[in-house]
Amino acid sequence: MARLGFIGVGNMGLGMATNLVQAGHVVYAYDPSPKALAAAREAGCLEAANAAEAAHGAEAIISMLPSGQHVREVYLEHVLPNATPKALLIDCSTIAVEEARAIIQEATLKGFAMVDAPVSGGVQAAQSAGLTFMVGGSASAYARALPILQAMGKAVIHAGEAGAGQAAKICNNMLLAISMIGTCEAFALAQNLGLDVQTFFDIASKASGQCWSMTSYCPLPGPVPAAPSNRGYAGGFSTTLMLKDLKLAQQAAHVSNTPTPLGAQAEALYALFAANGGAGLDFSGIIQMLKGQMLNGLPTQS
Ligand code: NAD
Repeated sequence: MARLGFIGVGNMGLGMATNLVQAGHVVYAYDPSPKALAAAREAGCLEAANAAEAAHGAEAIISMLPSGQHVREVYLEHVLPNATPKALLIDCSTIAVEEARAIIQEATLKGFAMVDAPVSGGVQAAQSAGLTFMVGGSASAYARALPILQAMGKAVIHAGEAGAGQAAKICNNMLLAISMIGTCEAFALAQNLGLDVQTFFDIASKASGQCWSMTSYCPLPGPVPAAPSNRGYAGGFSTTLMLKDLKLAQQAAHVSNTPTPLGAQAEALYALFAANGGAGLDFSGIIQMLKGQMLNGLPTQS
């Protein structure tokens, strides 16, 4: 069992650090939020006074931070100058592909092995070690990260070289947003054409329109009892986080000169939904806006 540093024990990081403790590791946690740090201590982590202390003497350092700016600051200013030279660095935050590549390059130049390992799955999956990790980095760094990530997830996949984990994450979530909007439009139209929601679900879920957004996350209540639509779109995957990922996808599309007209449209629609009261709701709640039910000056009919 290893001595590990965990930086950023918020909604996701707390569950992940807890699973590492439960796997028998000694985990030094750091978070500037006293509340987050207290929760980590209660879960069995040892408290570090700052990111440098969490990194000091650790065999591996894991981070789960809000944005690329935080990741850059934490690694360049605190981790790289203080970690032991053989330490493995694992950033699980969702950040821009280019930024992940640049930070990993800096770490590599200083002799560290580092991977980007963003996740699919929300807070519940973080708590139950049910995350899916998409990992970018060298084969040897991936091999070292694997047992640590396996203690926090149900699937760990090597996506390719540095930044490939972030690339896989934003492409997946861009597809998810587009398929969710398509599912919402289809269900709204079906209702307006007089179809019963459950009947349309029974047909489309066995026909060529079938997709995860429908069968696991149906945006209208009823057909999928566990979906956030059955609890007023509370919890789940927030529109704020979906919008963050869509912005990262558009940034990557621009840098790589890839036309993504539906990705751009999905970003615009989620930005509108967020600005009109949807920011804290699950992303499937966009059906309310598309049906004209929560409009703040938006047109109700085309
Ligand atoms: P969060 O805001 O709950 O947690 C982030 C934590 O980082 C906070 O506790 C914050 O205090 C801490 N932090 C900020 N600056 C720091 C610093 N300099 N040093 C140490 N800690 C610092 O966010 P979250 O929901 O846990 O998300 C974390 C990452 O996971 C994000 O990149 C997000 O996009 C990604 N993600 C989230 C979900 C989800 O459902 N919440 C799902 C998949 C991926």
